[in-house]
Amino acid sequence: MLDQTWHRRALVESIRRMTTQMATEYDAVIVGLGPAGASAATALAKAGYRVFAIDRKPAPGTPVQCAEFVPMMMGNETKMAVTASVQPIADMFTFVEQEAPDQACNFSGRMIDRKAFDAGLVAEAETAGARCHFASNLEAISQDGIITCGGKSFRPKIIIGADGPHSSIGAAIGSINKDVLETRQITVPLLKPHQGTDIFLSADYPGGYGWLFPKGDKANIGLGLDHDQRDQLKPLLEDLHQRLMDEARVGSEISYHTGGAIPAGGLLKPQGRLGESLALLAGDAAGLTNCITGAGIAAAIISGKLAAEAAIAFLEGDKDAAEDYAEDLQDMFGAALTRACQHRQKLKTIRQSKHAPSPAHLRNSWIAYPQYWH
Ligand SMILES: Cc1cc2nc3c(=O)[nH]c(=O)nc-3n(C[C@H](O)[C@H](O)[C@H](O)COP(=O)(O)OP(=O)(O)OC[C@H]3O[C@@H](n4cnc5c(N)ncnc54)[C@H](O)[C@@H]3O)c2cc1C
Repeated sequence: MLDQTWHRRALVESIRRMTTQMATEYDAVIVGLGPAGASAATALAKAGYRVFAIDRKPAPGTPVQCAEFVPMMMGNETKMAVTASVQPIADMFTFVEQEAPDQACNFSGRMIDRKAFDAGLVAEAETAGARCHFASNLEAISQDGIITCGGKSFRPKIIIGADGPHSSIGAAIGSINKDVLETRQITVPLLKPHQGTDIFLSADYPGGYGWLFPKGDKANIGLGLDHDQRDQLKPLLEDLHQRLMDEARVGSEISYHTGGAIPAGGLLKPQGRLGESLALLAGDAAGLTNCITGAGIAAAIISGKLAAEAAIAFLEGDKDAAEDYAEDLQDMFGAALTRACQHRQKLKTIRQSKHAPSPAHLRNSWIAYPQYWH
């Protein structure tokens, strides 16, 4: 019995020594190397901090889970928006039910190759000195800040949760995306060149919309719906594909299938403590995706950089760094996310009263129409 207790104590002591040892090796551990994590890793490593970053994907950006549209201004945030660009987008066409489309010309942007985009961001992080590991899952995160991944344990001063909508780091600090949209997307031949994003609004698409985004001679056709409607994704996407084939806009052959969750509940508390470690959330993990449009790449990049700035300030002794980060996110994204959530709630209330949203309701809640902004 005594022997057993001694062995247990020795084991605990050796784990303690191992984690203390690791703590001096890295200043920050980043979980997730999508746009948020890669941007945070680059900024921290450029500032001279030692960064260990992991992602469970086999390689950067793959498999792709994205419709691959970014707004034109994203070129100011990262040169990868230009480097990975596939084609420009000039206009947005909104199709409400079966009506003729409404054209809006103030939503220009780029279609990107998301795999190349994410890979480029990771390459920047590695060039800056961050240690980036793929096919490496977060195995455990304890309440006292011990993080286990790739068979190693760490107790870093900073943990950045950039691990997407179902963030484990978020769960550890009690910030969970409870409301999510579900999506399904296919890539098909595009039969006529197109320079617009096509949006399909319908009472048949609760909580979401359909899309056709052109990528040269291909198009991403997809659909997002409320989580509880996810059984409808497959049949409704098949219907949309058929409609677009009947209009001779796309071909039948499907070259890629994807999908995934999109946070739809708005901004979460992006900071918390795990023992002595400071945990910060960025990107989808912080609930920064717009629940009306589903767009989150720009917010992921910006918040990744801001999280790194907050981490640096904290490492340099600023005790308010985490609260300042939360305020910065609120200032930058709070109003837009609140507006989107309010529109989402209005449509939900209409559906709960057993009425189908009318075309006017659908227009009121879409960004291409002035009434969305008032
Ligand atoms: C179908 C679809 C279409 C979309 N289309 C667009 C679009 O056109 N434009 C746009 O702006 N936004 C779009 N979005 C949203 C956009 O993709 C996200 O907002 C963006 O990727 C968020 O970046 P992120 O770095 O926060 O998270 P992610 O890109 O999701 O990266 C998180 C990373 O964390 C890793 N990870 C998660 N858990 C663990 C773990 N336990 N251990 C190790 N690694 C882990 C994941 O593998 C992933 O690589 C779309 C989303 C979906 C699902």
